[in-house]
Amino acid sequence: LLDLTPITTTTTTTCGYCGVGCTLDVHTRDGTIAAITPTHGAPVNRGHACIKGRFAHTFTRADDRLIAPLVRRDGHLVETSWQEALTEVARRLAGIRDRHGPDSIAMISSARATNEENYLAQKFVRTVIGTNNIDNCSRLCHAPSAAGLTASFGLAGGTNPLDDLDRADCVLLAGANPTEAHPVVGARIKQQVLAGARLVVIDPRRTELAALADVHLQARPGSNVAVFNALAHQLIEDDLLAHDFLTERTTGLDDLTDLLQDYAPGTVANLADVRSADLIDAARTFGRAEHPVIIYGLGVTEHAHGTDGVRTLANLAILRGAVGTPGCCGILPLRGQNNVQGASDMGALPDVLPGYQPVTDPVLRDRFGAAWGRPVPERPGLRIPQMFDAAITGEVRALHVIGEDIAASDPNAGHVRAALQASELVVCHELFRSQTAEHADVVLPAASFLEKDGTFVNFDRRFQRVRPALAPPGSAATDFDILNRLASAMGADLGLPEPADAMAECASLTAVFAGISHERLDAEGPLHWPCRASDEPGEAVLHLNGFATPDGRAALAARPYLPPGEQPDAQFPHLLVTGRRLVHYNTGSMTRRTDNTALVPAETLEIHPADAAQLGVAEGAAVTITSRRGRTTLTAHLSRDVVPGQVFAAFHFPDAALNDLTSHHTDTVTGCPEYKVTAVRVQPAGQQ
Ligand code: SF4
Repeated sequence: LLDLTPITTTTTTTCGYCGVGCTLDVHTRDGTIAAITPTHGAPVNRGHACIKGRFAHTFTRADDRLIAPLVRRDGHLVETSWQEALTEVARRLAGIRDRHGPDSIAMISSARATNEENYLAQKFVRTVIGTNNIDNCSRLCHAPSAAGLTASFGLAGGTNPLDDLDRADCVLLAGANPTEAHPVVGARIKQQVLAGARLVVIDPRRTELAALADVHLQARPGSNVAVFNALAHQLIEDDLLAHDFLTERTTGLDDLTDLLQDYAPGTVANLADVRSADLIDAARTFGRAEHPVIIYGLGVTEHAHGTDGVRTLANLAILRGAVGTPGCCGILPLRGQNNVQGASDMGALPDVLPGYQPVTDPVLRDRFGAAWGRPVPERPGLRIPQMFDAAITGEVRALHVIGEDIAASDPNAGHVRAALQASELVVCHELFRSQTAEHADVVLPAASFLEKDGTFVNFDRRFQRVRPALAPPGSAATDFDILNRLASAMGADLGLPEPADAMAECASLTAVFAGISHERLDAEGPLHWPCRASDEPGEAVLHLNGFATPDGRAALAARPYLPPGEQPDAQFPHLLVTGRRLVHYNTGSMTRRTDNTALVPAETLEIHPADAAQLGVAEGAAVTITSRRGRTTLTAHLSRDVVPGQVFAAFHFPDAALNDLTSHHTDTVTGCPEYKVTAVRVQPAGQQ
């Protein structure tokens, strides 16, 4: 029955699902969410929201929400008090630090957490523990964007605001399915295409936007660098170049031109399984546009050569003068999670302090050390995959995980489980008894994004306010409070009692955030970084007055194609690509506890009808998928959206266990896992 009791409170906050960062009005009635509506006039979503942000909120009051800390006793997790839980964590962390040194402890911070929580997490690890062993899940998705965009342009962010899409006369969409993973952006791309913009899609799967495209390059997974090089080759061949821009503001054209002699479309077509004519058509469609925009996603980054993928894609923007010039539309990485940009911006990374300031720089270490009252450790810390390796060898003894279900979301899950089992202490902050929580010694009940105060940074570098619409249930607490209380239990004081204090301290130590404060965000609305002073509006468009590279020029990158970590062979003849479904989010811990599950109650394996016929598999039949690392069983869904030889599935359901299969190969520059290329064998279930 419709509840007609009046709404008591409306809170404006930022969506905690994907990185688009929609502004939402959360309407509550007596402490319970009655409805969520998109905020009228919000700059990112302009009154729109998707099925996740708008409707997937009932997880906040799910029956199995954690409402008290859990500690392991006699092999079982049992409820306890905060005092007992924090005392135990503090005692065991201090003991491990004192016996084995600070580098024996590692923390995985979170894109789910606010900027202020990430700032506090890296300060806790660097000052209370004394190590740089902190990383966040950007390692698993967009670390190659940070590395690649920094190398090409000098800053680790997309170059333009989403609003510039409105001016684009051509969208080059690579390795992204925003209709499902970033729905509000997907809708805006569709609107722009329906209004006349050309669309080039590079994706192994025929997505909804691919079906609308002028050119769809259904390129073989792992062939991105070759494809982007072929497009660059054709731009040079057709002289579709921004000559003045290249002369005055870039480096590396001669080396790139030399390399690209080997990447004629006719040469690349076979390697990438696309037609040479389509490569030429794609290059000309992009190259002849006056205002092209490049939008890309995890299909570019989650590869063994993901950073090279970002750099060779950035080459296309540079060759056309489509970055850092008046009226340009730029290059935009579609950050996956709500605050994956912010978690990295805040320095929850092993090699940089907030604002991407290198931890190896003694001047910066002294500056932060003086402000924090403790020396900042010099040696860069471990990346997430290295943390797992080190836990298995005993170099790392304690894993402290904030808001990430690493046992479900990280690749090669058997290796992750081995790392968790080998650790002397596993602590996690969680909403539910996740797969990771089942391996933990202490589970601390955490607040959701609807219960937090702070900020997120969205995919186009906008700081936006997050405001609590609900109180956390039971004794659940924000990650901010948990970290402060844990520091206190370890005899330390982080000196930041409120989230606004953390933002203020971060701004005081980081030039690119110097003009950002909660007060200003409340008064003026979202602000783009860089924002260097309290009277500056923030730079929505980057690099107009020079690139942030050491020489002020954009750097073209001559990068050869290198094969992915694995290739299909006689034993594992199919390629598995993993991705997302519209109604669910990542490991599904939130969306599976909402009515969205009624729409997609289980995962299926998309397989081309020709492959299914060859295997004797009918629609709805159970199939076993085996990789070099593991095996799982799914229901087959026959689809022509995938090409023969490739299969597709998402990892939203624990029983699908997709990450038992995925690869241990990682990007050679950043360590980002190669989620997008896994050689597998598909068989009817029960067949040996
Ligand atoms: Fe939330 Fe992303 Fe949907 Fe917007 S598009 S409502 S940010 S999940």
